[in-house]
Amino acid sequence: MSAYKIIDHTYDVVVVGAGGAGLRTTMGAANQGLKTACITKVFPTRSHTVAAQGGIAASLGNMGPDHWTWHMYDTVKGSDWLGDQDAIEYLCREAPAAVIELEHAGMPFSRTKEGKIYQRAFGGMTQNMGEGPAAQRTCAAADRTGHAMLHTLYQQSLKYDADFFVEYFALDLIMEDGACRGVVALCMDDGSIHRFRAQSVVLATGGYGRAYFSATSAHTCTGDGNAMVLRAGLPLQDMEFVQFHPTGIYGAGVLITEGARGEGGYLTNSEGERFMERYAPHAKDLASRDVVSRSMAMEIREGRGVGENKDHIFLHLDHLDPNVLAERLPGITETAKTFAGVDLTRQPVPVVPTVHYNMGGIPTNFHGEVVTLRDGNPDAVVPGLFAVGEAACVSVHGANRLGSNSLIDLVVFGRAAGLRLGEILKANAPQKELPKDSADLALARLDHFRNAQGNTPTAEIRLEMQRTMQADCAVFRTNRTLAEGQAKIDAVYKKMEDIRVGDRSLIWNSDLVETLELDNLVSQAVVTMHCAANRKESRGAHMQEDYPDRDDKNWMKHTASWFEGWGGKGGAVRIDYRPVHDFTLTDEISYIKPKARVY
Ligand SMILES: Cc1cc2nc3c(=O)[nH]c(=O)nc-3n(C[C@H](O)[C@H](O)[C@H](O)COP(=O)(O)OP(=O)(O)OC[C@H]3O[C@@H](n4cnc5c(N)ncnc54)[C@H](O)[C@@H]3O)c2cc1C
Repeated sequence: MSAYKIIDHTYDVVVVGAGGAGLRTTMGAANQGLKTACITKVFPTRSHTVAAQGGIAASLGNMGPDHWTWHMYDTVKGSDWLGDQDAIEYLCREAPAAVIELEHAGMPFSRTKEGKIYQRAFGGMTQNMGEGPAAQRTCAAADRTGHAMLHTLYQQSLKYDADFFVEYFALDLIMEDGACRGVVALCMDDGSIHRFRAQSVVLATGGYGRAYFSATSAHTCTGDGNAMVLRAGLPLQDMEFVQFHPTGIYGAGVLITEGARGEGGYLTNSEGERFMERYAPHAKDLASRDVVSRSMAMEIREGRGVGENKDHIFLHLDHLDPNVLAERLPGITETAKTFAGVDLTRQPVPVVPTVHYNMGGIPTNFHGEVVTLRDGNPDAVVPGLFAVGEAACVSVHGANRLGSNSLIDLVVFGRAAGLRLGEILKANAPQKELPKDSADLALARLDHFRNAQGNTPTAEIRLEMQRTMQADCAVFRTNRTLAEGQAKIDAVYKKMEDIRVGDRSLIWNSDLVETLELDNLVSQAVVTMHCAANRKESRGAHMQEDYPDRDDKNWMKHTASWFEGWGGKGGAVRIDYRPVHDFTLTDEISYIKPKARVY
């Protein structure tokens, strides 16, 4: 592999990713005096966090009574009891301070008349341990909260002594004796290879929504960190849980925030009926996302969809005061016009459930340390490896994430990871030499795809993967769709052997980078499909019609999945389980016991 020029770097901490999670972690680690680098394939403020609209959850109680224990109850219930309650306690307890920290950093939140941070209602967020009415818990900067947050974090991060490697594509982790020692990256503009040696690597690489055909996520959301973890022989967790957002614009996939329903929007079918009243008499249009998406899919399936093909649903905002639209939802007013040709003040928007978030990812504890199953210990820490943000599975979202709980997850656990790194690492501690072959895994794969001379273009395999996931691993799943889906996705994986990359250069070779991303996506698609086929119950976002009930006795456990298909072995997935944490961190709240999840 000597054909490639390798440039070596040594840091205490290397963070891969500069979205909300990566930036908050970078700031935290640098603030602990650790020599920190942040590697990102896109310019930091172009990370997908910038697209977040609706808001960030914290029980500030600015617009009505609230308490962190109520937030915790809702999150546990939203997770359909698959979330780890110690981590959920940590998230909800720390959330208000994390939002105030953003406010002090200059984040331009919308304001109440008294000048407090504005908070709106969001799905599944209630008062009084699920007993009371909706809680206004979602802090918002109009409908551009992620934009405001990411820019604030990026500005702040420049204040710290951290090095940014922008438009560097991380290829693979460097592992030695079960520990992570660093990461190898490709500088996309000159083709140089950079080998980062570090005491710890933090993966903050985001989700893999692009494994599906219709997704609200950016084209860059290819779960590269997740795939690196699989290639390192480590498991991913709960990959069968993929969130469909109820309101992606029909045809375009672009998101209309849940904040639209939080401000009073509602859904109707072809009969003009507000059908959510039937499915969730209490919370109606603000039931949690899995419930609303499923109800919409039911209406469509039973012939009550709207449009020529009766294959979508209407979202109404036309009854709202145009001033509210202009002030609270300016972004989606524009989006609806651009992508659906609709004037929100007068017409409904055509919407359809669209892939939005990956609950599954790299298993971690609430410090952000990556864990695996080792010698009978389901919580064994992988030395030198952390994960934060959508790439991670802490697991606070369990089987279904509540809206506005991701942005808060990024900053709370980004901060937690920074604190932990400060605790366990010594700044500038000497690091032993990397093994001679430390870049081989990354370079062999790079070289393989760069010279791939098969017959199938990348775009064709990608489309086949996306169509397969969309058809067979979507809102409703059955034994039949999943069995077919497994066969089809395994065939897609096999097709990777026949891939063709046309461009052999190393200067801005987007053909090559997209192929590396596709390779990352395919492994996650295979794992997702097999894990979905494996789980014989319905829970949260995983609705298996042949097993319509939640089965706590047999299935209240996390799926851990390894991908053993590398090197032409055929895409085999190995599955094991980790127990759900049924304990809390402190005595201030006790374990929230499972019950039926009705809204
Ligand atoms: C349209 C939309 C709206 C949303 N609205 C909300 C909302 O209102 N509230 C809420 O709580 N959640 C919302 N979410 C979810 C939330 O925004 C995301 O889960 C979250 O922003 C993910 O942040 P992240 O930091 O984990 O990853 P991202 O923001 O996706 O950033 C990933 C980073 O990793 C880098 N990266 C990836 N791969 C590589 C590689 N190979 N090499 C180098 N760098 C790499 C990228 O460059 C990027 O910097 C929304 C999501 C979408 C798609």
